[in-house]
Amino acid sequence: MPVESVFTALEPLLARVSKPIQYVGGELNSTVKDWDDVEVRWALMYPDAYEVGVPNQGTMILYEVLNERPDALAERTYSVWPDLEALMREHAVPQFTVDAHRPVGAFDVLGVSFSTELGYTNLLTALDLAGIPLHAADRTDEHPLVLAGGHAAFNPEPVADFLDAAVVGDGEEAVLAITDVIRDFKAEGSPGGREELLLRLARSGGVYVPAFYDVDYLPDGRIHRVAPNRPGVPWRVSKHTVMDLDEWPYPKQPLVPLAESVHERMSVEIFRGCTRGCRFCQAGMITRPVRERSLQGIGEMVEKGLAATGFEEVGLLSLSSADHSEIAEVAKGLADRYEGTNTGLSLPSTRVDAFNIDLANELSRGGRRSGLTFAPEGGSERLRKVINKMVSEDDLIRTVSAAYASGWRQVKLYFMCGLPTETDDDVLQIGQMAANVIRTGRQVSGQNDIRCTVSIGGFVPKPHTPFQWAAQLGAEETDARLALLRDAVRADKKYGRSIGFRYHDGKPGIVEGLLSRGDRRVGRVIEQVWRDGGRFDGWSEHFSYQRWMAAAQVALADEPVDVAWYTTRERDFSEVLPWDHLDSGLDKDWLWEDWQDSLSEVEVEDCRWTPCFDCGVCPQMGTDIQVGPTGKTLLPLTVTGQGVTGHGRQHLAASAASSGQ
Ligand code: SF4
Repeated sequence: MPVESVFTALEPLLARVSKPIQYVGGELNSTVKDWDDVEVRWALMYPDAYEVGVPNQGTMILYEVLNERPDALAERTYSVWPDLEALMREHAVPQFTVDAHRPVGAFDVLGVSFSTELGYTNLLTALDLAGIPLHAADRTDEHPLVLAGGHAAFNPEPVADFLDAAVVGDGEEAVLAITDVIRDFKAEGSPGGREELLLRLARSGGVYVPAFYDVDYLPDGRIHRVAPNRPGVPWRVSKHTVMDLDEWPYPKQPLVPLAESVHERMSVEIFRGCTRGCRFCQAGMITRPVRERSLQGIGEMVEKGLAATGFEEVGLLSLSSADHSEIAEVAKGLADRYEGTNTGLSLPSTRVDAFNIDLANELSRGGRRSGLTFAPEGGSERLRKVINKMVSEDDLIRTVSAAYASGWRQVKLYFMCGLPTETDDDVLQIGQMAANVIRTGRQVSGQNDIRCTVSIGGFVPKPHTPFQWAAQLGAEETDARLALLRDAVRADKKYGRSIGFRYHDGKPGIVEGLLSRGDRRVGRVIEQVWRDGGRFDGWSEHFSYQRWMAAAQVALADEPVDVAWYTTRERDFSEVLPWDHLDSGLDKDWLWEDWQDSLSEVEVEDCRWTPCFDCGVCPQMGTDIQVGPTGKTLLPLTVTGQGVTGHGRQHLAASAASSGQ
């Protein structure tokens, strides 16, 4: 049966909402397939506004991989803003896809990609608008499977009640395998209904079905045990790892948004994974091992992608792009090939030492050099040892000197506040470092108009990292520490006026902490917040700390746990963590040793250049690190953004920080 488009009902509402173009679809390289020509239909959701969701690489890749299959189709759906949500409720218009405006409730699967936990309330809005019961337990064979992926899915427990399933790790092969299971199941006449389909997925070993696991708690609130409750369901669910990136040159036909989006450029992922070992960085830990795309593979993706989109800027993406073993050749080759054209290149996320300033210079050939962003992350030498960010202040000053000497005028430094063992003094050293940067810049450039912007985010301990056991700093303490730093910078008569200071208060970090390390009981808090009007929690104008705290008090009233228990409490080794049954490949003993090393300020090298230190990923996953032939050792300062005005245009590379924040 064909499924009717809801566009006729939606269209009259669009004149009454902000940015209606985000709801109309029809982007260059978007795909609409006939409903009845395929067996398996996916609605892919990025649970944020269109402008944030449409450039998301993960969703774009899965959309294309699925649509290439003759027996499947995939369409996209994004969160609707509250103005349209109200009208959709009033006029009974369901959650729809932007491609063919089909109702999300008619698909076989609703696949949701969670980059951050702050999208959880938006999932509930979409489910409710789609007419899908919020709780998986209330769904019937008529409803789509609600399946989560993305980095936040490495601890899906806070949203476990709302999910039918979750997949951890790389999605390309996983969505194809899931599509096969669903296709075969439907071809057999769907024997046993929803329960049987979920069982088949769970027994495959690569799909986590929360309903098939019971969680028991100890009287003090800690988890006693998580155990499967169906035969044949594995005790631990493994992450998926795509080993050969050259076999997966996606997106081949990147989407070109109609409305303004956060990234106005094409991205090519040059490698996946990171073994630098920054202890706060969840992205680095859960995407191991390193897998590089070949020089040729990168060149082809850049060329074909530009031809398919007409974009004028290409970002070379990864968690630490300058660590690609052949990055110098990549940069030179691409700069040569596109010199004199309108194509701009950027490394939105890369380590920096003098070599990397050369790289930034190469990529900005002929362009004006406006600003570079580095991420020392910790203010003091001691703290950088704790977090394994192996960089000295001398490294930074040398790097900054090279940048200013090459004509760069603005330096932005990114730090975190609230790192384990941090003291007021560690944070105050951020101001001293900024002053040193300005002093150096003035000396090297001979000019006084040097600026340094210090940007500070609150540290949130994340699952599957060595800091997963750490106590998070409270919101008041974070605010007090940052106020001390702000006062010290203001009091610096010589350099203070040249230092920009940007920080957020500590409150959103506490909510993120609750959602990151929460267990299934936190689902009640999310639902209460949503019922109280919580939407778009990643947006400061919509976020309400008060709403979250009030909801937590109500939802956790009968439990021996509260928000502080989930956030500012240190865990010990024996505690069962809510995500222990999801296998990121990292050995828990190794993570604990690394946590202890951190407390002793012992650093660990990158296993790309030094012998394996047995984090567990390679043997457990049956994988290996994959780097090219040249293997260079680079200093570990991170460029998280690079603003280059070149060829008469402004390029603003987004801040894809390696911090995983
Ligand atoms: S198992 Fe060894 S080589 Fe593989 S990522 Fe871990 S430390 Fe590196």
